[in-house]
Amino acid sequence: MDNYEYMEESTIPVDLICKLCKKPFIDPVILPSPCEQTFCLKCIQTNLENHSNNCSECNKKPLSNNDLKSENPILRKMLGKLLVKCCSCSEENIQRSNFSEHIQQQCPKRIVDCSANDILCPWNGHYDELNEHFNQCPYEKLRTVLIKLINDARRIDELNQLQIDFQSLENKYQEQQNRIQQIENENEILNNQINEMKKFESENKNLNEQLNKLENFEIENKSLNEKIDEHINEINELKSKNQLIQDQCDQYEINNNDIEIELKILNKSLQLTNIVIENFQAKIKFFQENLNQLNLTQINNQTLNELYQQQQIQNDSLDKQNQYLQETIVIYEQELEHLQEYCKQIDADNQQYFLNNKENDHLKVRLTEYEKENDHLKVRLIEYEKEIEQLKQYCKQIEAANQQYFLINEENNHLKAQLIEYEKQIEQLKQYCEQIEANNQQLIEQSIQYKIKIDQLTINIKRLEAKLDRPVIQSHSKSTIASL
Ligand SMILES: [Zn+2]
Ligand SMILES: [Zn+2]
Ligand SMILES: [Zn+2]
Ligand SMILES: [Zn+2]
Repeated sequence: MDNYEYMEESTIPVDLICKLCKKPFIDPVILPSPCEQTFCLKCIQTNLENHSNNCSECNKKPLSNNDLKSENPILRKMLGKLLVKCCSCSEENIQRSNFSEHIQQQCPKRIVDCSANDILCPWNGHYDELNEHFNQCPYEKLRTVLIKLINDARRIDELNQLQIDFQSLENKYQEQQNRIQQIENENEILNNQINEMKKFESENKNLNEQLNKLENFEIENKSLNEKIDEHINEINELKSKNQLIQDQCDQYEINNNDIEIELKILNKSLQLTNIVIENFQAKIKFFQENLNQLNLTQINNQTLNELYQQQQIQNDSLDKQNQYLQETIVIYEQELEHLQEYCKQIDADNQQYFLNNKENDHLKVRLTEYEKENDHLKVRLIEYEKEIEQLKQYCKQIEAANQQYFLINEENNHLKAQLIEYEKQIEQLKQYCEQIEANNQQLIEQSIQYKIKIDQLTINIKRLEAKLDRPVIQSHSKSTIASL
């Protein structure tokens, strides 16, 4: 706040007075139409804030700071020429526009610092008291020493700052080294993972080889199955053939039995016929003996001629009968021959049947062998199927493992990329660390130099303090005497 009061305030024209603060305008602004009133800038701003952007005088419409316009320069000049009195030094008739210059440069009651402010004299006071203080200012008297001390203190501060910087750099360095350690650990983990992955890959290779083997097994199994099918077909053919042969054999046996029965009957009938023929031959003999007896008795017995005649007739009929019986014998003999041939044929057929039976037995043996082989193949097939089932499960496991390996591979690639990134970072960090170490080295050297200097300065200060102790007291006592 400007510390002045207006000269003869009552004579100031009303047009120059603000309706809000009742004082001459400061930074006058004019409100837009229709208000068109003039106020101090600060007064109207406060007023607008307190009355929801309405001019409290007319309440016309909402206003903002943008609506405020500076009053014209003439009014401002008039306000600047108003005369004021400085409340500090009581100087009168200062133009208001010049008051700030007065208070800054001319007012004897303005507040100033001691000129030894630069060497930390804490004094401040009215300008007209400055000279008195300056003559006695203990700081000003020790200027050279104090400048040195201040510079030394500044250097110490700088040194402290450097030490703080150094400490922070060391911390940073430590952090970086920790980070490097961390990255190296991560790197090791990644390397382990890579090795593990390589193991996985070799395992995967083995599994693939086993898979190929399995495929070969399957192909072999297929061919064996085909072979088994062929064998089964062959066996089935042989079975049907065998059945056919057995049917034929059965038929032959039935025929053979029939023929044997017929043959037996024929043999019996042949025996009967032979007996009849023998009977007839015995009869014929008997008749011939009778005929001889008759011929012998013919001479002797004429009477017996008739009988003889009768006997002759009887003989003729018997002859006829005999003739017929002999013809029958011939027929029977022919039939016998025929039957014997038929028997021979049957024997040959039997021979054939016997051979067929042998072949049949042989086929049966082969069939048994085939069945055994078939059983063996079936057992092998079951084993193969079991093995295939196991291999399929194993394949599934392998596929799952492959899936996992694939995922691990992807992760591995990602980790590899990360590793490369980390390695780059490590390289950068190493370079940075080297730089920091070089800086640290420089700072250590610098700090050593500074420490030496500080030690020297401390010695110097102590010496100076020892020297200065007395003269200060002396000068003070002199000035006291002078003032007395
Ligand atoms: Zn005002
Ligand atoms: Zn208004
Ligand atoms: Zn003044
Ligand atoms: Zn001072």
